[in-house]
Amino acid sequence: MLHASTPPASHTRSVTMYDPPSRRDPSSTSGGDPDAAVADARRWVDESSRIVVLTGAGISTDSGIPDFRGPQGVWTKNPEAEKLSNIHCYMADPDVRKRAWQGRLQHPAWRAVPNAGHEALVQLERRGLLLALVTQNIDGLHQRAGNSPELVIEVHGTVHDVICMRCGTRGPMQETLDRVRAGEEDPSCLNCGGILKSATISFGQALVPEVIAQAAQAAAEADLFMAVGTSLQVYPVAGLLPLAKKAGARVVIANAEPTPMDRLADAIISGPISEVLPLMCEWRLRERAPRACQGVRGTKSPDES
Ligand code: NAD
Repeated sequence: MLHASTPPASHTRSVTMYDPPSRRDPSSTSGGDPDAAVADARRWVDESSRIVVLTGAGISTDSGIPDFRGPQGVWTKNPEAEKLSNIHCYMADPDVRKRAWQGRLQHPAWRAVPNAGHEALVQLERRGLLLALVTQNIDGLHQRAGNSPELVIEVHGTVHDVICMRCGTRGPMQETLDRVRAGEEDPSCLNCGGILKSATISFGQALVPEVIAQAAQAAAEADLFMAVGTSLQVYPVAGLLPLAKKAGARVVIANAEPTPMDRLADAIISGPISEVLPLMCEWRLRERAPRACQGVRGTKSPDES
């Protein structure tokens, strides 16, 4: 059974950047019925040609990578862990860096494989509907699932690279992890001796302006904006949703918990992402007819190209 909720008609405005009215799409039929909300989203996907998807940690929990703020989140269970993601603590305290490197050795991203939610977004791209896939995730699972790197905008960077905080030299994470395994507790840059860190944007660290500008441009051009598995609490990325809404896009939020932006959504879907995204995104004929019949209809699924 899927879960969905009707966005509240109005409540106190918590969004100050780009604050459009909380008007729902008139073609919405859900009225709180979860299956109807998924059907609405699916119909809007079919009607759209410039879909922008914003993903957060929630799309990767079914691949075994915990989120930060969900009920099983890393910070929910251990608020101290937030320090490891804070740039000021990281730069100032060698002990924080040593713990961070030990954590990177064990990072679940090295073993994780994409789930049905990631694969559904590959289907969107194959159908020619995906304008951009903006992700807050650092795990690289969208590219691994098969989305084109040119369409994936990693606003918070990637854990698969390291970067020197002094000279900016980048390199593969696994090479630096080999140094940690060999006994270096806080490996420094081989080029200049500076502090090394995963090539992710930590809390307190500035985003790359060109990257966030690219994401904002895509959001402004979207005809459908889907926020998937994100608590929509981290700015400026969360501001992409009201930006897209103001520019005229339909908005779908798929997340297990309520978000501060639910009142802007045309549909809210709170079932498990790896179940609901395939229902919303996959190619129509895969569901309606077995593969053998598709040729009889004279229509080819993008899967077969
Ligand atoms: P978040 O932890 O703030 O929120 C994740 C949301 O997803 C929660 O509201 C949770 O209820 C929901 N969720 C979790 N599993 C779900 C499921 N299976 N189905 C439906 N909903 C589900 O995540 P965020 O908004 O992405 O922000 C956290 C920051 O931490 C991001 O900036 C990101 O860079 C980083 N992060 C990344 C990863 C990753 O790369 N996989 C993992 C943890 C944190």
